[in-house]
Amino acid sequence: MSPAEPSQLLALIVEDNPDNLLLTQAVLRRAGYRTAQAQSAEEALERVKEAVPDVILMDIQLPGQDGLSLTRLLKADPTTAHVPVVALSAHAMQESRQLAKDAGCDGYITKPINTRMFASQLSEALSSANQTGSA
Ligand code: MN
Repeated sequence: MSPAEPSQLLALIVEDNPDNLLLTQAVLRRAGYRTAQAQSAEEALERVKEAVPDVILMDIQLPGQDGLSLTRLLKADPTTAHVPVVALSAHAMQESRQLAKDAGCDGYITKPINTRMFASQLSEALSSANQTGSA
């Protein structure tokens, strides 16, 4: 890895599955992001204190406090409320998408992630998050 350029966006990956974590990290780095990682809600809160990320990739199913509950916390905190949260979920059902949206997630990507499509899915999720604002 070359030293991180300050212009690179920081993506925080919250994911408890090590294989998924490594894959998501690789895809994000290839897309030009710097990455930070957390394997639990507690760890994610620590990472966010160290550096407020530009985007958060949020696994919904985490041990202990889950991704939806963590998203609610982050969206209620003025220091992180503006950070787009994109849910990563194995569930493709509309109901699950709605639950994520209700919790404050700005986008939703189903797992297993498609390594070729991920970067465009992410920018699509982020641009639609910008268009809808904080509604
Ligand atoms: Mn998980």
